[in-house]
Order: sequence, then structure tokens, then C-alpha cells
Amino acid sequence: MTKVLFVVSECAPFIKTGGLADVAGALPLALSAFDCDVRVLLPGYPAVIAQLSKTKVVKTYEDLFGGPAKLRRWKYAGLNLFIIDAPHLYDRDGGIYGDVTGQDWADNPERFAALSYVGASIASDGAGDWTPDILHGHDWQAGLTPEYLQSAGTDVPFVFTVHNIAFHGNTSADRMNALHLDATRFDADHFEFWGQISALKSALMGADKITTVSRTYAEELLTPEFGIGMDGVLRHRKADLSGIVNGIDEAAWNPATDPNIKPYKTAAGKAANKQALQKTFGLATSDGPLCVLVSRLTEQKGIDLLLEALPELLRHRGQLALLGSGEPKLEVALLEAAASHENIAVKIGYDEALSHQMIAGGDAILVPSRFEPCGLTQLYGLRYGTLPLVALTGGLADTVINASPAALASKVATGIQFFPVNGQALTNAFTRLCDFYSQPAVWKAMQRNAMKQAVGWDASAAEYSAIYSSLMKAPS
Ligand code: ADP
Repeated sequence: MTKVLFVVSECAPFIKTGGLADVAGALPLALSAFDCDVRVLLPGYPAVIAQLSKTKVVKTYEDLFGGPAKLRRWKYAGLNLFIIDAPHLYDRDGGIYGDVTGQDWADNPERFAALSYVGASIASDGAGDWTPDILHGHDWQAGLTPEYLQSAGTDVPFVFTVHNIAFHGNTSADRMNALHLDATRFDADHFEFWGQISALKSALMGADKITTVSRTYAEELLTPEFGIGMDGVLRHRKADLSGIVNGIDEAAWNPATDPNIKPYKTAAGKAANKQALQKTFGLATSDGPLCVLVSRLTEQKGIDLLLEALPELLRHRGQLALLGSGEPKLEVALLEAAASHENIAVKIGYDEALSHQMIAGGDAILVPSRFEPCGLTQLYGLRYGTLPLVALTGGLADTVINASPAALASKVATGIQFFPVNGQALTNAFTRLCDFYSQPAVWKAMQRNAMKQAVGWDASAAEYSAIYSSLMKAPS
């Protein structure tokens, strides 16, 4: 049995802002089939603390970056968790990364240094009767782990997964003491990045193995365009970098049993869900495709490209139902588009149940991202027979089979990809989408292909477990 501690800042179903949480919630269960005992270390945000019951304090810290803290062991929803109960760091109103206005918390460096520090302390002294063989950190919030492993004098291997390279967790060098970092390691080989402390750089330099969430993104990360400043570091670590595509939680995302929808086993069952969704969004019936989009609303996600290309969808009597929240200027632009056309409907907010209804009721799911490490909503779409229309980048390139003439002829097409990632190519993609939609036999064949595609965790969990095994010391 390999004991692995995930060090991660969010985990579904307890606390989620994006795909990172889905991975942290589903991969541990998938890994249990590969003889791995995975536990998840998570900050005790108020939403998490409110869900706790029957916890056991397994460790205490007199001064965890500015105040006392307790480490609580918790078992829930099939997961084994350690929760950092540190009110001075996590007990506050607002989001998990920032306040209600979207401004990052000023003490985020300390809040997530604490996460990394506790991870390293569990590796060095255990938690209760459990000590991990491997630490597995996710994104910059776990990035300083190698530094704290070093100061604790432990050589437990550290695996690091990049879910999104755009977030570096940089902070000014004058926080060195506050973060309990060793100033002699403030150099290019450790956590220094252009004169700043970089949690991401620390992880990329200190990890024994680095993974990211699709093969294409692993290649893209080595280029200046996608590496966002870290491409040089990653080229240096290329021998230890690999791409492992994300899966989805097949229990939570199963159209035959999903409690949020009218369940169905074949795509024919989507019609009732489409009707319900149109009603929810105040859309009339139409003979064009109903496209859905569920996303954070940021520059990355290509929302501006969507707005540019929408007239083509509308010209074919297509419809858009969109759910998301994020940058105010994108929210405003979307609400204005919705106000200007009866076939566009937008809901600003975060709504898990509605996201299921949208994936079930949509004909197509849109993911026009400029970059997309893996992307999950296109995977949900495949499973629900909701054809993905996606940019040709990152995990979207790896998980969707474009409806080229050859793919259609050999009956493997599962969606539509567009490239280059701009408004004109997306416009052309809408033309193709509407053309396929007007040919029911072609559309249905693609739905069947999509619903057959494997989108679970089995193959990827096997790859992670192989990485863990490669790092385990042979028994002496
Ligand atoms: P990212 O991690 O970059 O946000 P992913 O596609 O990997 O993108 O994962 C996003 C996850 O968050 C998906 O599970 C998606 O359904 C969910 N999600 C995003 N925005 C919303 C929202 N407004 N309401 C409900 N779920 C959302």
C-alpha cells in the first residue's frame, strides 16, 4: 500500500472554484484501486469547517504563521482528509482566494505557505499513526512544500501537478522571514524568480516528478507562448515532466443516475432535459442547436471570442445558455448580449446543480479557451452526449476527436475543434456545428461516439500510481 498525501487548496465536494477541486475529490478514490491510500490535506475555510463532524485532532501547532492551529482528521464521502483548523488564516467571509470584490487576500502567501508547511510536517513527523510515503502537491498553493521538506530534513518524495501555469504565487522577497524560508536558498535553483519569492518555481525546481493535466499541455508548457514565464524552468526539468489527462468523477457525472436531471441512457433522453433547460433560461424553442457554456469568466476562457462569433450561431437560429462568474467586464458584456437577443441567456453565478442541467440539456458544450490545461466540461459533455465545440489547445486537443471528413467516415468523431484560437475560426466552427446539427443522422452518430468515449480516471490513475512506484525506495 503506497501512502500518499495530497496537498491542495480545494477539493470537491467540500469546496470548489474550478477543475482542481474535481481532481482532488475524484483521483484519490480512483487511486485506491491501485493500492494507494491517498489522504487530502485541505485548509479549513469556513465552508469546510461547517461540514465537519466527528473529527479527531491529530496534531497541534502553537504558531502556524501567526496563530495557533489544529490538524483535524476527517472521513467523509469516501475521502480521508486532514483539515487545517487555523482561524487566523482561513476563518473569514469572502472567497477562498480573495475577498468579495475579487481582490486576492493580502496574506495569501502565508495562508498557503501554511498549507505547504503542514504537508511537510506530516511527511516528517506523521499525523496520528499515519505517515505518507509520497507528498503530492497541486498548483502554487502547495508550491513551497520542497522548502519546508528541506528545512524539516526529510527526503519524502514530492510529486507536483501543474493544473494551471498562469498562477505563480509570487510575493515580494521581504516576506522571506514571515514565510520561514531559508534565505540562503533564495536563488535561481530554488524559489527565487526575477527577484521575487515564487511558490510555483519552488515546486518546479524541487519536485522529484512534475506532471500536468494533459499531454498536449505538457508540450505547450515548454514554449514561451504557454509557459507564461516558467517555460525555461520547465525545459530544464523536461526529463521529469509528463502529461496525464484528467478524468471525471463518473459517479457524480452519470446521465443515467444524475439526480439533478431527468436521467437518460441514450441521447434520445436529452430532449426532455433540453426543454426543461430552455424553460429555466427563458429561451423559446428553436430548430437550431442549444449551446451551453459553464465556466469561470476570464481572458483565458475566450469569452470575448464567443461574443465575436455569436452572430453566426444566431443566424442559424442557434441558442446560447451560459453560466459563469468572473471578470466584471465580461459579465457585463454577456448580460448586454443576452439583453439584446432572445436566443441568448446568461446567468451570472456559481451553481453546481444548474451546471448538470446545462450539460444534460444542451446540444453542444462550448470551450473556446485560449489555453486549457485539461478542461472538464468537454468531458462531461462527451459523457452526456452534448457535443463539445472546443479550441484546439491543451487537453481540449487530446480529449475531443474533431469531425474531420476522415473521422466522420471512420465513425470516431466526437466534436468540433477550431484553430487558430480566434473569433473568425470560432465563427467558422459555428457554421460547421449548425451544418452537422441540421443532419440528424450525422449528429446522432457523433453523440453515440461521444457517449462511448472513456472519460473516467482508470487509465490516468494507473499512470499516477506508476509515478509513485518509481519514487518509492526499495525496502532495505
Ligand atoms: P478551470 O479549472 O480552469 O476553472 P475546468 O474546466 O478544468 O476549468 O473546471 C471547471 C470546473 O468548475 C468544472 O467542474 C465546471 O463545471 C465548474 N464550474 C465552473 N464555473 C461554474 C459555475 N459558474 N457554476 C457551476 N460550476 C462551474
